[in-house]
Amino acid sequence: MLNIQPREKQVVALNMLRAEWKQNASFLLYAPVGFGKTAIAALITDGFVSRGMRVMFVAPYTVLLDQTATRFIQYGLPGDEISYVWRDHPSYNPTALIQIASADTLIRREFPDNIDLLIVDEAHLKRKKLLQVIDNLTRNTATKVVGLSGTPFAKFLGNYYRRLIKPTTMKELIAIGALSNYEFYAPSHPDLTNVKTTYQAGYGSDYNEEQLAVVMSEAKLVGDIVKNWMENGEDRPTICFCVNVAHANYVTMEFARAGVAVEVMTASTPHDERQLTIRRFEQGITKIIVNVGVLVAGFDSDVRCIIFARPTKSEMRWIQTLGRGLRPAPGKDYCLIFDHSGTVNQLGYPDDIEYDYLPSSSDGMEDAPARVAKTDQPEKLPKECGQCHYVKPAGVYICPKCGFKPLAGEDYETDRTRGLKKIGSAESKPSKEQKQSWWSQILFYQRTRAAQGKPVSDGWCAHTYRQKFDVWPRGLDNTPKEITPEVANYIRSKQIAYAKGKAKQDQAA
Ligand SMILES: [Zn+2]
Repeated sequence: MLNIQPREKQVVALNMLRAEWKQNASFLLYAPVGFGKTAIAALITDGFVSRGMRVMFVAPYTVLLDQTATRFIQYGLPGDEISYVWRDHPSYNPTALIQIASADTLIRREFPDNIDLLIVDEAHLKRKKLLQVIDNLTRNTATKVVGLSGTPFAKFLGNYYRRLIKPTTMKELIAIGALSNYEFYAPSHPDLTNVKTTYQAGYGSDYNEEQLAVVMSEAKLVGDIVKNWMENGEDRPTICFCVNVAHANYVTMEFARAGVAVEVMTASTPHDERQLTIRRFEQGITKIIVNVGVLVAGFDSDVRCIIFARPTKSEMRWIQTLGRGLRPAPGKDYCLIFDHSGTVNQLGYPDDIEYDYLPSSSDGMEDAPARVAKTDQPEKLPKECGQCHYVKPAGVYICPKCGFKPLAGEDYETDRTRGLKKIGSAESKPSKEQKQSWWSQILFYQRTRAAQGKPVSDGWCAHTYRQKFDVWPRGLDNTPKEITPEVANYIRSKQIAYAKGKAKQDQAA
């Protein structure tokens, strides 16, 4: 017997599954943030285990195995029936009714043949070995498969899961208070017209990170992030999402210089250190955690402000990231969202993104399981107030925050086809100080290279400067100055572009 009662929307999900159960081999349960994904997994598992049937639960990462087992036991599943499918693990017991495995380690030929139900958490993550297992189970066995995802938009899903179960939506969860509300502001709009798009595992097509880091490390953009938070952030517990480590370090440094208690967390931050940072954040000692993609899965602290400084084209990344701020908490009114990336102008509000069918990467053959179709996607995207940067829903004219009334034709219209308006640093002319600063940093880079025994010439320095400002470095002081991430990223991107061009030339020759 479990000691949790299914919540309203979880009951809906269980009934939908029951109604479709016999006719289908596999299901994808659309469980937005706030739905209670682990709880529904426990409820389904309990239904099987109480009848002596076997369940395997697959977590996306090995580090989440313990967390899952702990939650299962808290919910009342029998601890002595929980086994880890992990070589040499002391709790490995192949006869136990509940097997917990990691997608990283699960291999088809080792998959036990006595499992009645396979539950796959974060099913939108593409794990080849696991997909082979699912394919085999659904074709050749009576084992049922239930995938769980808050963002089931990945192209391959329709090829492995037959039926989408959609018991609720993010919008509905906000309306019933299972998720907190949000307020959107869009204080800056980086110019991303020259940033290329590349494929990124787990997120589909998205901006090239190297190039994105160069744009987002512009001093003016980083300055805006700090300035806006100091003026409007209300000292709320905040997490800030950056492009890469250099960008995150730069933003962290600027917040620290402004006297804010800030910490940075990246993929290379050790587990213990992360836990300490999160504890300080929860105690209010640390106000802002700046991070690069690590505060996404399994981070449940009370967050009341999000700084989004990582432009994205991926609806999955957009929803998963903003979801970190939507957990309800006592006394929480809403989550403030500062979008410094222009993403809200492209993708709209997170809870306006919904699908009614699983996407499928098949090529339109008649027996394709499903075709992608969007619902509730507004024709018009939200617009922002020209005065206070509040992002207004489509069709709202007078700003509900500051009362600003745009003149006819002056409202900030967003248009997907023509790209973003150029605002800010991309338009302004560089000052003499800025040029001098870049030149001094390029000379610093030259000196560093010489010290490493890999010198670059004076001509290289002059050319690098010219590429940036379209003029030669004339009348400037030649004193080196310590290099900032902005300039370092710029030089790095130029070197990558050069190396690629050279490789092409070599190939042609
Ligand atoms: Zn306004």
